[in-house]
Parts: sequence; C-alpha cells; structure tokens
Amino acid sequence: MKRSQQIELNPNNKQSTRMAQHAGYARVAFNFALSSFKVGLDNDEWRTYIDIKREFNAVKRDKFHWCSELSQNASKNAIHNLGDAVTRWKKGQNNFPVYKKRSDRISYQADNGAGTVEVYKKRIKLPKIGWVRMREALKWTGKISRVVVSKRNNRWFVSILVHCDSNNYKHQPPLFDEKQPIGIDVGINTLATCSNGDTYENPRPLKRYERKLARANRSLSRKVLGSQNWQKSKKRLGNVHYRIACIREDAHHQATTKIVRKASAIGIETLNISGLLKNRKLAKALSDSALSRFLTMLKYKADRRGIPITEADHFFASSKTCSSCGEKKKDLTLSDRQYHCDACGADIDRDLNAAINLCPA
Ligand SMILES: [Zn+2]
Repeated sequence: MKRSQQIELNPNNKQSTRMAQHAGYARVAFNFALSSFKVGLDNDEWRTYIDIKREFNAVKRDKFHWCSELSQNASKNAIHNLGDAVTRWKKGQNNFPVYKKRSDRISYQADNGAGTVEVYKKRIKLPKIGWVRMREALKWTGKISRVVVSKRNNRWFVSILVHCDSNNYKHQPPLFDEKQPIGIDVGINTLATCSNGDTYENPRPLKRYERKLARANRSLSRKVLGSQNWQKSKKRLGNVHYRIACIREDAHHQATTKIVRKASAIGIETLNISGLLKNRKLAKALSDSALSRFLTMLKYKADRRGIPITEADHFFASSKTCSSCGEKKKDLTLSDRQYHCDACGADIDRDLNAAINLCPA
C-alpha cells in the first residue's frame, strides 16, 4: 500500500540555499537530457535514459564542475523523469516535454528508494544537506520509496512516498458506533449537505480575500515588470493566493474526515464541472469552492478506510426527485432553495432532498 505525505520544512539559510542548488542541478540535468534526446531523434535514434545518463556522467565534471558538491540523486532522477516523459509522449499520453526555465516551480527528487534519505521524528536527512527540521512528523511507517523537495511561495516542502505493509495509522482514528450509509450533495452555498442532516459550510476564501487579491493584483500591475518592487509585489500576491489555498484545503480536510468517520457507505453525484463552468455566473463561485478537489479527497479517504462509494451519474435527477415519494418535478430552478412536492406535500431543504436521493441503500 502506498501512502504519501507532504510536509513543510523548516530549513536554515544554508540548507535552503543548498536545496535551491540541488533544484538548479536537477533543472540543468533535465535540460541536458532533453537536448540529447532531441539530437538522438534527429539522427533517427531513440536514446534511453540509460544512454543519456552515461553521456551526462562523461561530461558533467567538465561542464558542471560545481556538481561534485551536490547529491547526484538530483541529476539521476531528473534524467530518469525525462525518460518517463518521452515514453509517455510516445504512447500519446502527454505532450512532448519542454525545457525547464529558472522561473518554473523549482523542485528536485532527493531519493528514489535507494535508502539515502532518513526520517526521524520531525527531522529528515537529505543527501549532502543533512538533517532538516520538518513542521510535523511522518504519519506512515514503512519503506520510503520517493522523496521530492519543492518550493512553493517561498516555503520549502518535502513530499514523501511510503510503501506501507498495512494501513498503518500511528494513531487509530476514533470509532463511531452509529456508522450509516450517507448521501452527499455538494454545492456552492453549502460545501456538503449529508443525508443524515449534517452540513459543512464552504469557507469561500476567494470572496473573503477578494479585496486583498484585487489590491495585490493592482499593485503588481503598477510596477515596472521585473523590477525590485515588482518582485516584492509578486511575492505579496503569491502570499494571498497561498493563504486562500490553505483555507480551502483545511475546510475540505475537516469535512471529508468527519464524513468518512461516520459513514458505512457513501453516495455522491458525478459533477459535470466543465459543463457547469460554461455558465459564467456560476463559474467564479464554483472554481472558488473547488468541488472536484473535495470529491477527490473524499474518495481517497473513503478508499483508505474501505468504505464503498457509489457515484450517480449526472443524468440522475437527484435534485428534482422527491425523496419521500419519488415524484419528479419538472420546473425546479437553481434559485428554489426549498423543495416542495405537489404529489405528497413534502417540504424539505433542496440540498437535503438531493442528499437523501443519493444515499446508497
Ligand atoms: Zn413527494
């Protein structure tokens, strides 16, 4: 069983410089591999990553003399990644890889299961860098099979993939007696309405941070492109975006964990998000609440606990059907917040009605 966790790092200045150097090394190696591969293509020859690695090792001491100070894992894994990327391109699974730029999101793979990385409590030992403090401990125990270090909004993160022997939570989640099947209606106004009556509010961080975001955007647009002040403004804008992403993610984690702790089975509706996004009025509110991200989270957490999930397709009229008698209403609009049934006289909250319809039997 594979489990991954992303943890923020607390490096000192020396360590963050070192990590940036490694990321730079990975970029240089990736670009070297890509250009070598392209030369191969021009000569009707398919160069594997092993060929390229050999070529790289032969010239690296002359071309990149500084690399002897760094962990060779960074370049090795970058070339390996290029190999994977061109294989996927050949199969038609993705576009042809492009050169990495300095301004791209920076990252490097510190380990590929060779056991060069150690984790002890809230510390991680990275090759050629040493023990770096982590903000939290690793939740999983088992063999570490991949470690990727990356930088986002001036913060360093490490993403650790662990091969677990079993579903080994170090802390067992609390057990609930009354586990029951739960249907969930996800929406814009309320993030999730459950058939057992629970509701989870959507924090809608964009709405709250809209003015801050607008101000940061305006300030950036007034600066000279690339200047010192522009850099500062860009950092500030990045901070607002980061804040929004964190608030949203936190709300999603809390709601999904609470739901899976209570559910014995879960019923949801497949969202036709791309279709909904064409409706411009809805688009902003929808992308804000990032519903598809929420559903992905719900699915993997349910999967982890062995809770079955049934997905009703979007032709199933979960909102228009009466949850007590099964009568279908034709003239239900998005603004009708209350469902009133003409056949049996039921009067029920619209989202709750939909959630009950989605509840697996
Ligand atoms: Zn009815």
